[in-house]
Amino acid sequence: MINSNDVNKWLQEVEHPAKGDKNLVELGMVENIEIAEGQVTVTLAFAKHRDPLAEYLIGSAKAAIIRNAPQGTQVEIKSIIKNEAAPKKKGLDLGEEELANVKHIIGIASGKGGVGKSTVSVNLAVALARLGYKVGLADADVYGPSVPKMTATEGLMPDAFQEGEKEIIVPLEKYGVKWMSIGYFARPEQALIWRGPMACNALKQMILQVRWGELDFLLIDMPPGTGDVPLTVFQSLPVNGIVVVTSPQELVSMIVGKAVKMANLMNVPVLSLVENMSYFECPDCKKKISIFGESKIDSVASDFLIDTIAKLPICPEFANLSDKGQIEKFDGDYLNSVVEKILKI
Ligand code: ADP
Repeated sequence: MINSNDVNKWLQEVEHPAKGDKNLVELGMVENIEIAEGQVTVTLAFAKHRDPLAEYLIGSAKAAIIRNAPQGTQVEIKSIIKNEAAPKKKGLDLGEEELANVKHIIGIASGKGGVGKSTVSVNLAVALARLGYKVGLADADVYGPSVPKMTATEGLMPDAFQEGEKEIIVPLEKYGVKWMSIGYFARPEQALIWRGPMACNALKQMILQVRWGELDFLLIDMPPGTGDVPLTVFQSLPVNGIVVVTSPQELVSMIVGKAVKMANLMNVPVLSLVENMSYFECPDCKKKISIFGESKIDSVASDFLIDTIAKLPICPEFANLSDKGQIEKFDGDYLNSVVEKILKI
């Protein structure tokens, strides 16, 4: 049987990245721990309204307990605002004020992780910025944020300030693009095992609590998959269209089918399909070799009446530049068709 000392110890694993990495216990944020059979309920106290990291800390506290407690233990994290002792509202009622001067929002989606969604997202952002447009990218992939690494901004902490009731986060600017990522607040080794509403809230914060200012395009690197988390969030945002990234190893027709269904539920068009790792170009003879077999992307696009596709080769240079955070050196030409389509919306 676990006791509150155990829970207290586990909560010491959760550090507040904006407070010198002190943990929840050291910061006096653990207000109460209740243990009943198979159920742990922790109340966290926040000093002011909407700590920009509140959802992250709540998620991490839950994850720390689930990691350590016997399997099947139910965990609930409540939060209160200290001094006021007012229970925090369930869910965030963030408005869309920060999107008021954003002209177009485009989601970048994929069926699963690792197909190159982030590579395509950052490439598109840099390509649009090179053309002189004002661009922001929200890395909303709560399960595997890659923008900090790809932009060599790892370890930086975006500024935050209080404005009335609301805590505002300031995006980082580099390569002419405004960047925001859950990765600035989570350590890479911290497994983000967020589920359902918690992932939804963290995701909303990364979009709605950010001072984007005036933007022609806000690109959103969505969490992989077409499940409830992306759908719930993106149904509530004024998205103008989505770009779907696939790889030839997948059941492309099924993935695109699901993405089209998601886009229909969001009431937006699929602007383009991007097949990543489509072929390998022989450096000597320039012949294109379809390593994973003949591409099906053209026929799938025509089946789903999608008029724009792009194909990106397997290119060790992409991986190298991403690793080094030198994405401004990417060859953006591969995505020209997608950029042109985006400019038409
Ligand atoms: P996702 O966002 O879908 O999880 P990423 O864009 O992070 O995928 O890509 C996963 C890995 O594959 C990264 O290491 C990236 O550098 C590499 N990668 C992506 N596209 C290519 C490509 N066309 N050629 C070579 N490596 C690639």
